[in-house]
Amino acid sequence: MNNHLVIGILNGDDIGHEIVPAAVEVTRVAAAKAGLAIDWRPLPIGRTALDTHGSTFPAGTMEALSKMDGFILGPIGHQAYPKVAGAINPHPIMRKSFGLFANIRPTRSYPGLGAIHDGVDLVIVRENNEGFQPDRNVVVGSGEFRPTEDVTISVRVITRAGSARVARAAFELAQHRRKRLTVVHKNTVFKLGCGMFVEECHRVASEFPEVTVDEVIVDTMAMRLLRDPASFDVVVTTNMFGDILSDEAAGLVGGMGMAPGLCIGEGNIAMAQATHGSAPDIAGKGLANPFAMIQSARMMIEWLGHNRKITEAVDAAALMDAAIVKALANPATRTKDIRGTGTTTDMTRGIISAIEVAG
Ligand code: ATP
Ligand code: MG
Repeated sequence: MNNHLVIGILNGDDIGHEIVPAAVEVTRVAAAKAGLAIDWRPLPIGRTALDTHGSTFPAGTMEALSKMDGFILGPIGHQAYPKVAGAINPHPIMRKSFGLFANIRPTRSYPGLGAIHDGVDLVIVRENNEGFQPDRNVVVGSGEFRPTEDVTISVRVITRAGSARVARAAFELAQHRRKRLTVVHKNTVFKLGCGMFVEECHRVASEFPEVTVDEVIVDTMAMRLLRDPASFDVVVTTNMFGDILSDEAAGLVGGMGMAPGLCIGEGNIAMAQATHGSAPDIAGKGLANPFAMIQSARMMIEWLGHNRKITEAVDAAALMDAAIVKALANPATRTKDIRGTGTTTDMTRGIISAIEVAG
């Protein structure tokens, strides 16, 4: 059996240069301890690639990625790119080319970090390739239009196939967790679009009789998430609702540094991508919380372990999880945004030490 993984390393921009190496180091140590062989492949992307390769997303990077099991993608600060040829946003191309339609965004509360509620352990599954996509004219028919100077039309794309496949990914996840799925929508207003999404979720539900399904309107969800987040297990929703609610969920447990993400889909490739942006305001100061990036990498390794049936990968992910919990419990090995006194490096070293001493 081939139990070795080929993983790409894409630093991204700004704090990406701090948190991606942190995620790689933690994963490297856990993999070595669990007996998992990983072939790491650093690839150019972002501002540094614009200088060295004349493009923020060189053709060679895309080609190399297509041969990998997974990759760690640091945050991309594309809004700040200079307006020159070659300065492109790689996200939509990656999501579309690799069919990464499901964005899995977990939220967990850990004691002592300033979470607003204890006992939070939920996962938002956000549809990743449809919906409102003004900045990604990749899906046919999406985008924004200005028929006259004073009128703008924003188009939202929902398809049956797109809704069913993300619903299935969410049900599969719920099946392995507490077996509860909440479908979030606004079919009272978007009767056709959200209506179709909800219909497809219920259709897929028949394949998962053990999972209890309920529905919540998105505005009610925003309120309930704030008041009683511990009551949710897996949440599935359309692209923009998922984006907004997952930031809200991150806020409940300590902020953007606590918001990991994994993108999966049609192919066998997994992309570890934290929910937060490149945070230029704190870059280079050792202030970036590496949790989201490290957890994203952990989720990728765990997913690949199940997907490829590599027990060493599942073991490595478990080692990482336990070590993260341990480091988070000590203020010296967590960053300031989560009531710590440590730097990015202190937290990374804390997690690595916890892996090294694990039995
Ligand atoms: P995007 O458009 O990519 O979503 P954004 O402008 O919404 O990016 P966020 O990533 O949501 O930016 O981050 C907002 C702020 O949160 C950052 O400027 C930074 O101060 C803080 N932040 C984000 N990520 C982290 C992190 N890993 N550690 C600490 N603080 C962070
Ligand atoms: Mg944001």
